[in-house]
Amino acid sequence: MKRIVERILQDKEQEQEQERRRPYSAYLYDLGHLREHVQARMDSLPPRCKFFYAVKANSEQPILRALASLVDGFETASLGEIIRVRGVAPDAPIIFGGPGKTDYDIEEGMEYGVSLFHVESELELLRIAHIAQRRSSTASILLRVNLTGPLPAATLTMAGPRTQFGIDERQIPALLQTVRQLPNIKLEGFHMHSISNNLNVERHLDLIRYYCDRVRSWMDEFGLELSYLNAGGGIGVNYDNLNDQFNWPSFVAGLELVCGEKLPAGMSLLFECGRYVTSSCGCYAAEVLDIKHNHGRHYAVLRGGTHHFRLPASWQHSHPFEIVPIEAWQYPFPRPELIDSEITAVGELCTPKDVLAREVRVARLRIGDIVVFQYAGAYGWAISHHDFLSHPHPLHIYLD
Ligand SMILES: *Cc1c(COP(=O)(O)O)cnc(C)c1O
Repeated sequence: MKRIVERILQDKEQEQEQERRRPYSAYLYDLGHLREHVQARMDSLPPRCKFFYAVKANSEQPILRALASLVDGFETASLGEIIRVRGVAPDAPIIFGGPGKTDYDIEEGMEYGVSLFHVESELELLRIAHIAQRRSSTASILLRVNLTGPLPAATLTMAGPRTQFGIDERQIPALLQTVRQLPNIKLEGFHMHSISNNLNVERHLDLIRYYCDRVRSWMDEFGLELSYLNAGGGIGVNYDNLNDQFNWPSFVAGLELVCGEKLPAGMSLLFECGRYVTSSCGCYAAEVLDIKHNHGRHYAVLRGGTHHFRLPASWQHSHPFEIVPIEAWQYPFPRPELIDSEITAVGELCTPKDVLAREVRVARLRIGDIVVFQYAGAYGWAISHHDFLSHPHPLHIYLD
């Protein structure tokens, strides 16, 4: 954060020399922070654990490049993501997941050297086998299981009843029989991404124990020899209190025990985290264009909004921010400001949904100050509808 604030002040300083200045709007990423954060996680992983990066959280090239030499590989959910990864990491292991893979995606995935396919349905399994046979190759796969549950709860449930992801657990036995008859398929294990944004260490460990038990029962029943259990992503970020994040040291200490007790011999445990990897390295900074008082509420209108940073709208939360005070004021009339007030931070779009933070108390806010939203490095720019209303895009600044 310190390096990012310094950079904003420096940018603003230089701006003063320009005649027609444009209000500030930028994503700023601290790649040094990203490397330190990820390296520390990699260094503390127990044996038999591998950590992949889920590209969909942030697929910007400098981010992928910074991660390429640190993580064990990349989890991708489209051909586009595979191509982005290969642009910076020609040899990194790639897992190819996601529902709705086309034959073209599968074939190109093989060309790009995907090491594991996550299979989402029986038909997809048959199509992958068919393509592998045509190419006289073997495809290594994990079956993605949609568990029956009940699972330890977290905010976004990706499995358990009523989601489209993976294969209903009750269909797995029949599918294992099918796999046996497909010589071009090598079943390497199972994939169980089931939750999102989980902050509770014990819950995460419980989930992994549960996964291990399920996998072991299929291994015993079908005499399988497997290499991987992919426990997915879903380690969370606490947007409500940035000082109270997922307790990684406690997690890896527990994980070592869980692996010793539960993970079948010869298997590795894979993680494919997105949010937890890139969230903290990125900030979204937007200048205050206007301050209004409408029907009892203060609104700060920003140069930007949910078309740049859709995360708070998509999670329906107030995103945490800091205010960087900017001293310069270029007009002859007085500078409007709020002192010790509650503000609602909104964007420049013509929709009432363009809200980034609601009724948050600030000590002081002036027109021209910069509101810096923290923990914006994951599912920020990547999930936003950039061209709605055709406003200019923010700058993308990568500090190294
Ligand atoms: C989105 C996704 C991830 C990453 O999830 P995070 O919550 O960002 O860690 C991992 N695996 C799959 C299959 C996903 O869909």
